[in-house]
Amino acid sequence: MFPWGMRAGPSSVEVDLEARSAARSAVTEVDNLRGRVRTLEFALGALWLLMKERHGYTDQDLAEAIARLDAEDGKIDGEISVESQLECPQCGRRRLTRASLKCSYCGAPLTPLGM
Ligand SMILES: [Zn+2]
Repeated sequence: MFPWGMRAGPSSVEVDLEARSAARSAVTEVDNLRGRVRTLEFALGALWLLMKERHGYTDQDLAEAIARLDAEDGKIDGEISVESQLECPQCGRRRLTRASLKCSYCGAPLTPLGM
């Protein structure tokens, strides 16, 4: 026991309870994210169906567009590097907002991110 009411730190029971609580929170967060991904997959599927039915796009068109987008960051790896898109391609400065249509520094046209 420590003098003046000081504690030696959390007990093993407290550590165990804290770990269990953190694990429950992580499981809940994963469940929430799974739900959001399912919702987005459903919405994307519906949008693609409309694009095919009303505008005549094909699955091949989609595959080619995905390949072009994948290559835009200089690496064909199935991922889009957001980091490289945060910089202006003309002056190299970091964009101020993800929704910018042009660079705030040099005026170069930008593609809005995450839209
Ligand atoms: Zn710029």
